[in-house]
Amino acid sequence: MKILCCVKRVPAPGAKINITADGQDVDAAHLGFTTSPHEECAVEGAVQLIEEHGGEVTVMTLGTSDAEEQLRYAVSVGAHHAVLVDAGDNTWDPQRIAAALTAAIQDVESANGSDGTAEPFDLILFGNESADSGGFQVGIRVAHALGRPIVQGIKGIEIGDDAIIARREIDGGFEVYELPRPAVLGVKEGLNLPRYPTMKGRLASKKVEIGTVGASADAGGQARLRLHRPEEALSETVILGTGPEAAAAVVDVLDELGVL
Ligand SMILES: Cc1cc2nc3c(=O)[nH]c(=O)nc-3n(C[C@H](O)[C@H](O)[C@H](O)COP(=O)(O)OP(=O)(O)OC[C@H]3O[C@@H](n4cnc5c(N)ncnc54)[C@H](O)[C@@H]3O)c2cc1C
Repeated sequence: MKILCCVKRVPAPGAKINITADGQDVDAAHLGFTTSPHEECAVEGAVQLIEEHGGEVTVMTLGTSDAEEQLRYAVSVGAHHAVLVDAGDNTWDPQRIAAALTAAIQDVESANGSDGTAEPFDLILFGNESADSGGFQVGIRVAHALGRPIVQGIKGIEIGDDAIIARREIDGGFEVYELPRPAVLGVKEGLNLPRYPTMKGRLASKKVEIGTVGASADAGGQARLRLHRPEEALSETVILGTGPEAAAAVVDVLDELGVL
């Protein structure tokens, strides 16, 4: 079985995000980068399925050469192959990214096949949405372009004889989907608990040869005007008093909050 995971390089959560002076980009000078928790679960899910059923996991990202860091991390936790879709210094809207990823996937599937027949990935995993721009659309666009079924919001995957069984969490239970192979899923954090890299994994990630595919696709319809950082919510500490004398003021505050 062959599984592909698409991952995106995004700023590490928890960092203070600054914007460049022209308002067009995130200032990456003091930032660490990672992949979104959804995509970490996608890679872990793929590795677990391969451990159970046999096969190989490929990870793919569209980005600059810096994004090799995220590909190598995926290899350190069990992926076998890594492909960088080289973004160069073009501007990339979601439509264009999806078109370039689709073309790259078709290239890899043709190279995997024989006698001129492409060998599709049995399963392609995306994160439900990216951790930075959260457009909720790249996976859906790719699945549509490839003519394959997709379900988003997945928190459970099983491999049947000819089908993929996917479970989506809803209020009070799960919806269960059966998709014919090849299929595409958008997965959510909670699918599993991603493992940490082992020493063996780290060594493999240093040695892995990263395949590079040129990214070509026409610009789509979405253009960035500028990035804007919302005003920070200020928090204030008020000292109500000291010792037993403060008790009445505390009761007033609790009353105001409606907890009494
Ligand atoms: C190199 C680069 C340059 C960019 N330049 C611009 C720009 O000039 N102007 C602008 O407005 N925006 C730019 N962007 C942002 C870009 O428009 C969005 O990141 C992109 O459209 C994806 O949308 P999203 O993050 O909302 O993804 P979503 O649709 O939320 O992502 C869903 C899932 O798709 C997959 N995915 C998303 N992006 C990638 C990727 N790059 N590689 C592999 N898998 C992916 C992941 O699995 C993700 O969880 C750039 C992004 C990149 C990577």
